[in-house]
This record gives sequence, structure tokens and C-alpha cells, in this order.
Amino acid sequence: MDDHSWMYRDSPQELRKMDYCNGVQGFINFATSIPRNFTDGGIRCPYRKCKNLKFLHQDVVMIHLLTKGFMEDYLCWYVHGELFVTPYSCWLVILTIYNLPPGMCMRPEFMFLSIVIPGPSSPGRNIDVCFRSLIDELTQLWSSGALIYGISRK
Ligand SMILES: [Zn+2]
Repeated sequence: MDDHSWMYRDSPQELRKMDYCNGVQGFINFATSIPRNFTDGGIRCPYRKCKNLKFLHQDVVMIHLLTKGFMEDYLCWYVHGELFVTPYSCWLVILTIYNLPPGMCMRPEFMFLSIVIPGPSSPGRNIDVCFRSLIDELTQLWSSGALIYGISRK
């Protein structure tokens, strides 16, 4: 998702500023570049009264946006096909057990997440949220343990 911070302007003078006008042109270019956005020759209009419900010609949509602004909370243009991707990046190192039968060694239950390498926009300390269930299981194993089946003892 690109930076769309230019989208929200309040006053008509602000709506005429160059970065806003260029941004609206960029929005129209993006929306019209995806064929499935066209219905009856028009695209959905994200002006606050049209609310992506009306299909209008791209010139009309541009006029709505240039004179009145975007609807609230439309920073990700998901209705127009923009993918919502979290701004995080990480590398995962996953271990598999290769002395299992071939049909088993690539199954998820025999793969182990061993290392998370943070990328340039990694979640940092907020990665804790992803590991909550693992931490809970490890805490339970440490404090009360768990019954297991030992194949050597039968
Ligand atoms: Zn409109």
C-alpha cells in the first residue's frame, strides 16, 4: 500500500493544492488500470456522499474528489483493488525433519519455526503478539508438564 496521507484535506483551498491534485490523478490512474473496476462504463466514486456505492464516469469521479474530497477512512483503496498488506517484513527459518517418510516430512505438523529474522520494517517488540500461544504452551510445559508417549518405553 502506498502512502496516501495526501488524501484528507478539509478546506477547498487545501483541495486545490498540487500534491492533492496529483494524488487524485494517481487514484484515477490506479482505479482505471484494473479492468474489473469498470461497471457500466464507470468506476466506484469514493467521494464522501457517493461512498463507493455509485458508479460514475472517471471524469465525474475526479471532479467529485477534486472539489469535495474523499470519504472517511479510505486510506487503503481496497474497493478499487489495492491490496491490504501489513507494513511488516520478517524472514522465517523453518526446520523440517528429513528422516521422516517423504509424505510426512513436509507436512505442517512436522515443521518448526525456529528463528524470526526482523527486516527493515519489522514489528520489533510487538512481535510478542505473534508468539503469545507459543509462550503460553511453553509456560504450561515448564510449570505443570504434559503427558507424552515414550516409544522406547512403550
Ligand atoms: Zn462521487
